[in-house]
Amino acid sequence: MKVCWNLTNLCNENCQYCFRELHEHQLKLRQNLRVIDKLYALGVERITYCGGEPLLYPNLIDLMSYSKYLGITNNLITNGSLLTVENLDKYMPFVDKITFSIDSPSDYVNASMGRGVNHYKHIKELLPIIHRKYPNVAIEINSVVTRESIKEVDYMFESIAEEISFYGIKKWKISRFCPLRGYAKERENLFSLPDQVFQAIKNKYDGQKAMFEISVRDYDDINDNIIISPCAAMKTSHGTEEYTLVDNVLEASEDEIKKVLSLGGYYV
Ligand code: SF4
Repeated sequence: MKVCWNLTNLCNENCQYCFRELHEHQLKLRQNLRVIDKLYALGVERITYCGGEPLLYPNLIDLMSYSKYLGITNNLITNGSLLTVENLDKYMPFVDKITFSIDSPSDYVNASMGRGVNHYKHIKELLPIIHRKYPNVAIEINSVVTRESIKEVDYMFESIAEEISFYGIKKWKISRFCPLRGYAKERENLFSLPDQVFQAIKNKYDGQKAMFEISVRDYDDINDNIIISPCAAMKTSHGTEEYTLVDNVLEASEDEIKKVLSLGGYYV
């Protein structure tokens, strides 16, 4: 069983289409260690740490080292901007898979979407180091495709194939913009992709084998994820709607949590 843990709603970037939680406060370290204990006791084998930007959670390393110590597989989804050549060695020993969010290689496009300048260039500098020093860590790229960024998909493919695929990129996930919550819901009309436009991307890329695997994910593919929110609620989604199944992992009974965990979590 696995969960996707939105540890914090803080982020140092400002993507216009972001669907992070805007209204929940993150928990303290000791509470989150208890969340791990509870998930582990009920059979969770994989945690995907994400956010917001998970590196902004001050005790991310404590949590990842504890879950790793218990034998849980740790995935980390990050925008990459807070990882540096100097601090990689603090995080990477506790990471089994790292996913970088890159929607475009272009500085201009990234800036217009609210991402930091040099976003792609920065990750491109980290990749050879991660690949050389941590060969067992799987590396993936996740791109969100919106009405605004649809033209970037071919450019992204060429950039990954020609510039970074040889640094051990296992998979490129192209995710359809989903107006699930937060800014994404407020700005749905600006970013939503018509079905036929998304389908064309799916037909062109899904399942294609380049030097890396490609997976194109529609709403349904994220629907089975079990999300732990910053304040430890358990949620899932159907289409573009999100549902809270357990208000707080720390207060819920084992049976309640077990029931939710059994619902899915196969696509993170
Ligand atoms: S999409 Fe990711 S990187 Fe962008 S603002 Fe949201 S959490 Fe931050």
